[in-house]
Amino acid sequence: MINITFPDGSVRQFEDGVNAYAIAESISPRLRKATLAAELDGELYDAALPIHGDHALKLLTFADEGGRWTYRHTGSHILAQAVKRLWPEGEVISFYRQGDFVDLCAGPHLESTGKCKNIKIMSVAGAYWRGSEKNKMLKRIYATAFEKKADLDAYITMLEEAKKRDHRKIGKELGLFAMMDEGPGFPFFLPKGMELKNTLLEYWHEVHKRYGYVEIQTPIMLNRELWEKSGHWGHYRKNMYTTVIDEMDFAIKPMNCPGGMLVYGLEPRSYRDLPLRMAELGLVHRHELSGALHGLFRVRCFTQDDAHIFMTWEQMKDEIKNVIKLYTEVYSTFGLSYRIELSTMPEDHIGEKETWDFATDILKQAITEMDREYKLNEGDGAFYGPKLDFHIADCLGRSWQCGTIQLDMQLPERFELEYTGADGAKHRPVMIHRAMFGSIERFIGVITEHFAGAFPTWLAPVQVKVMAMTDRTMEASTEIAAKLAAAGLRVETDLRNEKIGFKIREAQMQKIPYMLIVGDKEVENGVVAVRSRKGGDLGTMSLEGFLAKIAEEVKEKSID
Ligand code: ZN
Repeated sequence: MINITFPDGSVRQFEDGVNAYAIAESISPRLRKATLAAELDGELYDAALPIHGDHALKLLTFADEGGRWTYRHTGSHILAQAVKRLWPEGEVISFYRQGDFVDLCAGPHLESTGKCKNIKIMSVAGAYWRGSEKNKMLKRIYATAFEKKADLDAYITMLEEAKKRDHRKIGKELGLFAMMDEGPGFPFFLPKGMELKNTLLEYWHEVHKRYGYVEIQTPIMLNRELWEKSGHWGHYRKNMYTTVIDEMDFAIKPMNCPGGMLVYGLEPRSYRDLPLRMAELGLVHRHELSGALHGLFRVRCFTQDDAHIFMTWEQMKDEIKNVIKLYTEVYSTFGLSYRIELSTMPEDHIGEKETWDFATDILKQAITEMDREYKLNEGDGAFYGPKLDFHIADCLGRSWQCGTIQLDMQLPERFELEYTGADGAKHRPVMIHRAMFGSIERFIGVITEHFAGAFPTWLAPVQVKVMAMTDRTMEASTEIAAKLAAAGLRVETDLRNEKIGFKIREAQMQKIPYMLIVGDKEVENGVVAVRSRKGGDLGTMSLEGFLAKIAEEVKEKSID
């Protein structure tokens, strides 16, 4: 007999060689039916394989990641078999891909292919092997599978909605940004896109000042010696753009960190200077394969909203809490919820295990004291320290990894950073890297899809459109627009000789939050007729009344 420990801590005895299906059956026939795979001592395990010896066991259904994986992985085999039947002479490479994880075939699988019913082919595309145009062009079939037909249908509906919200399409329609062949992966921001970006950055500056950050800017190009010291030249060079100046190697920065370290080291620091929160909106360049580029989501050049926080061990918990508080405030401003993942010490790491445990414990305490939960990714941290990843969820329930907090036990060492303690001796500061949006450009892509281009009034590139009803009200319309602009609003006028219905439809398509319609009657009575993008006709009001209303909405950063 063997002892099987279940997730709730209970232990039961089974015959040696029993499999997970039989164990599920002994609990209930319904569970037997729902079981797709198992987790044996935390590892994914085929439910049909015999179990020998004592183990911890978790039965996996479609509600579990491992269960879904097994279901879809089996689906990928069915698909490969079908393709092979249709084209017996073509070579078939079967993959299962989930995020960055690609599997050639290690199982587990479902007990029978008949159990995997709801498979849908999503698209067929030409793809270069490993994304490089130097390789052979292959046909790639994308498919998905769900246990329940209704869930598959809901997923298809979500994708259709996502297609309508594609930021590349909306970016073009609203004149926000453009990608051109002349600069693959290097986005162009157009006037309205710049309004959006600048408003976002204004908010970024305001909130960082309030949370006690100082701001720096370091050069986008620095010499090879620095990149060797930081380790990038050795480990990251294939992603870096390099050049030669005065016969010396230089590299365009892929990260802001080394520049930040130089600024810290520029003058002697005392414990009284800590914590030092040094933020930088740094333009970084990273070489990505051309096949991997995707609108603003995957680019070769972006603005990282970085910060490096230097502190003592005693200050670390409060600092982490301060960052979590900042992220919570900012994400909720956009109506985005988030979840946290905590990644711990990997096998290949620097530093003592005790230091890692201590640091990881502080991260856990900080999250718990902020009343948040986290998912633990054992062994998934960077080699230089544990990290927290913040995954935000948009209105379609899609998840985007944006924020990060990484403890770095290596860079302060490499750059020999110091501060003088209260004891008069030199100490090494603790340092975290953190980025809230990750990439400003990518975040603009995310919120473009999240809001489907209908940005909240505070953020909208054009907030008000003033429309003249007739030629006679052109002058009055221009005056009204000037008054709104003087009050700090972003305004456009439409004085064209077109029907008002046409003008409204156009402004509506441009997702402009407010339209002011100026006709003879409005001029006579000293009022404006107000329409909102969402609520339609709001009736007439005085210009002062409208200004007060919109000013309040902008101040509150209202999202509806
Ligand atoms: Zn950094």
